[in-house]
Formats: sequence, C-alpha cells, structure tokens
Amino acid sequence: TPDVRPLVAGNWKMNGTRSSLDQIKAISEGVRNELSEKVETLLCPPATLIYVATAICTESPLMIGGQDCHPETHGAHTGDISAEMIADCFGTFVIVGHSERRSDHGESDSLVRSKAEAAHAADLTAIICIGETADERKNGQTLEVLKRQLVGSVPDGATAERTVIAYEPIWAIGTGVTPTVEDIAEAHAFMRRELTDRFGAEGKAMRILYGGSVNPSNAKQLMAVDNVDGALVGGASLKAEDFLAIYRVY
Ligand code: PEP
Repeated sequence: TPDVRPLVAGNWKMNGTRSSLDQIKAISEGVRNELSEKVETLLCPPATLIYVATAICTESPLMIGGQDCHPETHGAHTGDISAEMIADCFGTFVIVGHSERRSDHGESDSLVRSKAEAAHAADLTAIICIGETADERKNGQTLEVLKRQLVGSVPDGATAERTVIAYEPIWAIGTGVTPTVEDIAEAHAFMRRELTDRFGAEGKAMRILYGGSVNPSNAKQLMAVDNVDGALVGGASLKAEDFLAIYRVY
C-alpha cells in the first residue's frame, strides 16, 4: 500500500522461557544492525517475558507487544492481563482476536472489539486478527466471514496509527499451507475496500498483515501482494535467523 510502512510481527504464542531470551536479543540486535527505515518490527512473547524483553530492546527499533488483553483495566479476573499492564511493561502493541483465542476461549467479535478498545484506551496499537475456516472457504463464504469479523471486531474510531488488521486464514496457521497469491490479493483488496468505506483515509492507510505459515522461503512472494502491508509470523518467529530473514524481504 503506498505511503504505508509495513510491519513484520512475531507471535510466540505459548512458547518461550528465560532460555529463549538469547533469541530476543539476537532479533533485537539484528534489526538494529541491519536498520531499515522501510519496515517496523514487533515481537509478542508470552506475558511472562514482556518486561524483560522491553529491557533487552531499549537500544533497538524492535517493538514488544502482548498476545491478548482483558477488556477491563484491572479487577477480579484471575489469570488475565490488561492492556494497561502491557503498557506498564513498555509494550506498545497487543494482538487481539487471534483464532486460537477465538477457539480455545470462545471469544466473540464483540469481545474482541472491546479488547481492541481497551488497547486503544491504554495507548497500545491493536492487531485485530480475522480469518475464515477451511469449511467457510470451501463453501465460498470467505469474504462474507471477513466482512462480519471486520464489522464486529474493529471499533468505531479506529485509526491507521493504532489499529492493524491481520488476515489469518485458520487453515493456513501452523500448517505449512498458504493461500495462493491470487486468493490473498482478493481477500486483502476486499478488506481494503471495507476499511476505506468505513474509515475513509484512515482505512486506506491501515496496515493489513497476512499471517499463516509465513516463512523465509515464501515471505518475498507473499509480501509482494497488493494490499499486504507486512506479516504476522508464528512458528518462524521463534528462531532469530528465520525472523530476520523475513525482515530482510523489505
Ligand atoms: C499465527 O498464529 O499468528 C501464525 C501466523 O502462525 P504460523 O506462522 O505458525 O502459521
């Protein structure tokens, strides 16, 4: 997308202990040493590592974020963390509505929307994930599912600065299978139209990431698709070498 700085974001999911900090260090140093003004980088480790990760990255453009947040700021919600807590640890982004949250925890579009609102209230950028199941794609429902999720999960007043959309077809996550570039182009063009209709210039400039089995060998081709403004990377973000190889595509 013209005039949009792409984002390469890593999602570590429920992976990473103190022994993984050397990978965070390597990514942090890698993006500092090979500094590119063309692209932003973000890593979302598990919540237990956010604070130490931001300390590692003080000299690096690598940004750190959370993988989820509760809609409220604090209170009686055992096991949850708030957007404020992520911001307090110097995180600047949070992923919301990942398909694993939607399926493992039954999260609805309206809950995801309230989490994105909480992120904005804490001055975090929300990465809002959407995507169809294999059955929905087979039945030709992909665009209607994306529309419903965009309408339901993206808050009114979303801006290009504080909101990123991640298109992650569920059948492509962790499977090694990706859609064709034509299918990605169709989905991203559709989302761009929907966002521009609703948010005007902000929707035009809002980043739309592709996620689902992005790796160093396919990243160049996938990132070249129209309206693909970066990647949300799961498995391949765990190894610094692979994350940096994807970063170098830009
Ligand atoms: C993800 O779950 O955000 C993801 C894209 O995973 P993977 O890259 O492992 O498919």
